[in-house]
Amino acid sequence: MFRKPEGIGTCPRTKGKQPMKAVVYRQSKGLVFEEVPDYPVTADEVLVKVANTGFCGSDHSLIAGGFLPDGYILGHEISGVVAEKGAAAGGPPVGTKVCIRPTYCGRCANCLGGRPHLCRVHRRTTGIGDLPGGFAEYVRVFPQMLIPIPVGVDSRNAALAETFAAALHAINCTGPETGSALVMGGGPIGLSAIRILKILGYGPIVLFEPVKAKREIALTCGADHVFDSGETDLDRHVTAIVQGGFQKIFECSGVTANVGRAVHLAADRGQVCIVSVMFKPLTLPDPYMINFKEVRLTASISNTHEENVQCLDWMASGKLDARPLISDLTSLERLPDVYRERVESGLAVKVLLQIGDEF
Ligand SMILES: [Zn+2]
Ligand SMILES: [Zn+2]
Repeated sequence: MFRKPEGIGTCPRTKGKQPMKAVVYRQSKGLVFEEVPDYPVTADEVLVKVANTGFCGSDHSLIAGGFLPDGYILGHEISGVVAEKGAAAGGPPVGTKVCIRPTYCGRCANCLGGRPHLCRVHRRTTGIGDLPGGFAEYVRVFPQMLIPIPVGVDSRNAALAETFAAALHAINCTGPETGSALVMGGGPIGLSAIRILKILGYGPIVLFEPVKAKREIALTCGADHVFDSGETDLDRHVTAIVQGGFQKIFECSGVTANVGRAVHLAADRGQVCIVSVMFKPLTLPDPYMINFKEVRLTASISNTHEENVQCLDWMASGKLDARPLISDLTSLERLPDVYRERVESGLAVKVLLQIGDEF
């Protein structure tokens, strides 16, 4: 998945610009604040001056798992302003406020078929693949990745549209029918899922989450019932509330045992969607339950352009507000400390970087 990021340490600086501030992954030290050369823009690229970047759960997984090359710049939840365009780059003009949908090669069947989130060929992925990401003052991207931000949406919300779009994508992967829903895990994607399930008319919406502060946010997002996932006899208690089990269950916690638990809590012909990306072997204690109830197991990754646009539209109309999810507003300089103190400890809900001018 990863190649050595281009543009770090090897490129000449763009005429007239200063070295830029960034948070870089170092294999020996983890995240470190550094100054790196900024990027020259090639003919088909666009330079975006970053306003805000969100710190995603997948950033944490990649750092903790040691999956990154030395010198890589993470960050894929980005809002900013188009600052410079290559001679042949299309897309919105300089000065446009944009957020970034990070994956696009433009050549593979998935990109050409409108599924750029599944792109694997010539992978060009900002902040989570081969292109350096938004933990920096600038990002260089392809114009097809840009989504203009509608009037009325601020840069903090816009940076987090991608988080909500990931939740919307998971819900869309389970089809259009609504009903009872269980969300396992109240991190940013789980909380986003609760908000969107509410907008889409699902109910009752239930959350399992061990951290009290996250359960409280879930209630403001639209959850009907919230439970500590470790509560004794919880599954029996919940099936008394939602008789017959849940129509849809979204596993957003990364706890592998939750998949088997979800199969037990699903209704006949219910769906279990694995949203968290798991890197450990998965055991299903009672696989026959999948047959007996005809449980449909599915999974989701990332999101589409259209889902980002939908979330931005909901933000513009006031239905969606990402800001209650932001537990930590910080700077590039402070991010390595915030990561160690707040993300590794699981205390932060959503860390958002203030990098350039916010809007
Ligand atoms: Zn993300
Ligand atoms: Zn592609």
